[in-house]
Amino acid sequence: MALHLILLGPPASGKGTQGRRLAEREELAYLSTGALLREVLRNGGPVADEVRPTLAVGGYVSDSLMCDILEDWLARHEDGWVLDGFPRTVAQDDFLKHWLAAKGQAVDGALALEVPKAELVQRIEERVECPSCGWSGQTNQLKEGFQCPSCGEKAARRDDDSLENFMHRFEEYKEHTVPVIERYRALGMLAPVDASEPIDVVSKCVEQAVNQLKSDGQKA
Ligand SMILES: [Zn+2]
Repeated sequence: MALHLILLGPPASGKGTQGRRLAEREELAYLSTGALLREVLRNGGPVADEVRPTLAVGGYVSDSLMCDILEDWLARHEDGWVLDGFPRTVAQDDFLKHWLAAKGQAVDGALALEVPKAELVQRIEERVECPSCGWSGQTNQLKEGFQCPSCGEKAARRDDDSLENFMHRFEEYKEHTVPVIERYRALGMLAPVDASEPIDVVSKCVEQAVNQLKSDGQKA
């Protein structure tokens, strides 16, 4: 049975890492809206021209345009998926529900990664990457002298991770995405996961949560 899962959580909660692991374990397609939008930009054309100015200032693409882009991706991935970054708003969730319903399908469950805001801020402040080889991680992984553990060059903080950018995205999350989370909670389809634990512990919790969602689905 094709499993349709959505992964929700604030910025820097680890959705990318957990989403990829989950998709691999369950043999599902993995969608990162960030990666998909970068692909759209690379491919060029009218849609790329439309989203480029928004992305250039770190903003969010409009619901209608995002849904158009997603529709194309969903049509190419009909054997189940994990969505990371979509639905980001209630309007996007409505679109997803209708798109699946037209095919006699539905979302099987939503996972919500939960991390206290203070810890997210700390993660943002400690994020670094290597301009030379592309390595990325946390400051405590660097070698002495702020050196990249992979190539030894000097690492730098990530530009797009400025605190201001995070604060803006966190407010957007509270205003637009938390209502999506509440919607799945009200439907009894939400599995909250404490994502402040180390990555492997969180993975284990995600695995258990998905197994629970699967067995709930069989009972329903
Ligand atoms: Zn490096």
